[in-house]
Amino acid sequence: SVRVRIAPSPTGKLHIGTARTAVFNWLFARHHGGTFILRVEDTDTARSRPEFTENIKAGLTWLGMTWDEGPYFQSERLHLYREAVQTLLDKGLAYRCFTSEEELKALRDRQRAVNQAPRYDNRHRDLTPEQCAAFEAEGRRPVIRFRIDDDREVVWDDCVRGRVAWQAGDLGGDMVIARRSETEDFGQPLYNLAVVVDDLEMQISHVIRGEDHIANTAKQILLYEAFGAKEPAFAHTPLILNEQGQKLSKRDNVTSIFDFRDLGLLPKAMANYMALLGWTPPDSTQELFTLSEAAKLFSLDRVSKAGAKFDWAKLDWINSQYLHHLPPTDLVELLVPRWQAAGFAFDLERDRPWLEDMAALIATSLTRLSDATEQSQVFFAKTLSFSDAATTQLQQDGVGAILQATADRLADRSPFDLESAQDLVKHVTKACGVKKGVVMKSLRAALTGDLRGHDLMQSWLLFNRRGLDASRLQDALA
Ligand code: GLU
Repeated sequence: SVRVRIAPSPTGKLHIGTARTAVFNWLFARHHGGTFILRVEDTDTARSRPEFTENIKAGLTWLGMTWDEGPYFQSERLHLYREAVQTLLDKGLAYRCFTSEEELKALRDRQRAVNQAPRYDNRHRDLTPEQCAAFEAEGRRPVIRFRIDDDREVVWDDCVRGRVAWQAGDLGGDMVIARRSETEDFGQPLYNLAVVVDDLEMQISHVIRGEDHIANTAKQILLYEAFGAKEPAFAHTPLILNEQGQKLSKRDNVTSIFDFRDLGLLPKAMANYMALLGWTPPDSTQELFTLSEAAKLFSLDRVSKAGAKFDWAKLDWINSQYLHHLPPTDLVELLVPRWQAAGFAFDLERDRPWLEDMAALIATSLTRLSDATEQSQVFFAKTLSFSDAATTQLQQDGVGAILQATADRLADRSPFDLESAQDLVKHVTKACGVKKGVVMKSLRAALTGDLRGHDLMQSWLLFNRRGLDASRLQDALA
């Protein structure tokens, strides 16, 4: 059965790259009716923090993904990794290495001087018990290294990249699998070992992760062999690139998933867009789907090898599609905090119907939720600010008469609805002997302070419900 996992390290907030890897794992699991597991790789106790774990869980949840198992915490499983290190020691596949940090640095410096890639020279691979004892007597503490046969070629059939072959000689020499310890036989087991132990124990069928882990995969396959176990299938997903084609990084200001929420992107749009970051659905023109819909279509052979360029225009387009189709009640919920932050005055209980109608009117002008502040400003403003074009319009001959005629008859039109508004415009047009367009333009200038904006009649009805139209007409006439 299909069992996949997302294995974030809680050393920072949920990163876009991790979130996208989570999306692919989730889609793959759901497609196959498999199990999606959350495993928190928190063995780096110095950098791991509980609030990052919370952020990661909240981010996955925000995107609409649930996990079927976990979270498991590596910090609670250290005994398993220690046992595994001991097993490799007992089998003679790992050994104690007493090379000091200074000696390692000297080695690297020498290698760098002759333009060699840094690698451990395996000098302590075959120490005798007497040599070990002598190092111990000097007060040295060992790391544990796993033997890597330099002549080996590590080959696997990657679900995304096809056949991948790594020369074991390029893996940097025998690999450290456990740190030094002053008090114990050996210290903390390291990433590659812990991952293999967990993926085996959790019966992971497919490891789907970023292509930055390819070298780790080669090392991990050697560890599976050492444990006499069959390795899972591997799928390496392309890196996410910024619009300049470089790896998306902190400099792009949107590394954590909630940065996107704060920019005003909807979780469904974000999840939709992330599914497309490196994957193409069978009908490559299809761009809008929920994660569940994408899951039906998902397969690893449609994941691209090439880097996935982050396309803001496409994300914005997808977001606008979701925004335009959001029920006004939901839109209001999302906009209330933004309206409050902008200092707009309203009473949520009392004004809810009005807020919903207003949200429905501005919805189609929104690309991001953050646009709502500017787009709804005109419905809250106590005093309007006027664009130059609006000011010019209000100074035209005859405009005063138009506004006066409108103001005079406004009170009679109660209740004020679309029909009465249209009727009033017709009446004023006739009474002032001008074209309807002039009346509309003048009213727009007086009521909104601009010559462009949302549908005037609908806006007017909303102004009227808060008494804003009468006062704005008076202000324009003053
Ligand atoms: N903790 C690793 C990371 O965040 C997990 C990689 C893996 O999926 O094996 O990159």
